[in-house]
Amino acid sequence: MSKFGWSYPPGCSGPPDEPEYPCAICGNMPDDCTCPECEECGSQGCVDHLKSGDLANLIKTLDGRLFELNKEAKRRETLTLPCPICQKVQTIDIFREDPIWCCNQEYWSTGWREVINGC
Ligand SMILES: [Zn+2]
Ligand SMILES: [Zn+2]
Ligand SMILES: [Zn+2]
Repeated sequence: MSKFGWSYPPGCSGPPDEPEYPCAICGNMPDDCTCPECEECGSQGCVDHLKSGDLANLIKTLDGRLFELNKEAKRRETLTLPCPICQKVQTIDIFREDPIWCCNQEYWSTGWREVINGC
């Protein structure tokens, strides 16, 4: 199924580029979904008609994987040096995308650096 094969009519409230989510069952993007077609409705990766036993097994499997992955993420956490102003120590986790700030200082891998504002 191509996502370019159709378009919203003008004035339609639908977003022009709907984000695609991976299939809840196999974890692949919709175009690469490896799930068999649903016996009830014929759609691939159908969650609505997933058997309760399969659903439970899937959750158990993913729970186990998440547990391991979270454990590894936790293991990679490091601490900053104490802030030179307030002595607060912050955790650097792998989910962080923004620089760490404290008391007008920015944390670099080498330590805290004062941020000089233009004003
Ligand atoms: Zn799938
Ligand atoms: Zn179905
Ligand atoms: Zn501070």
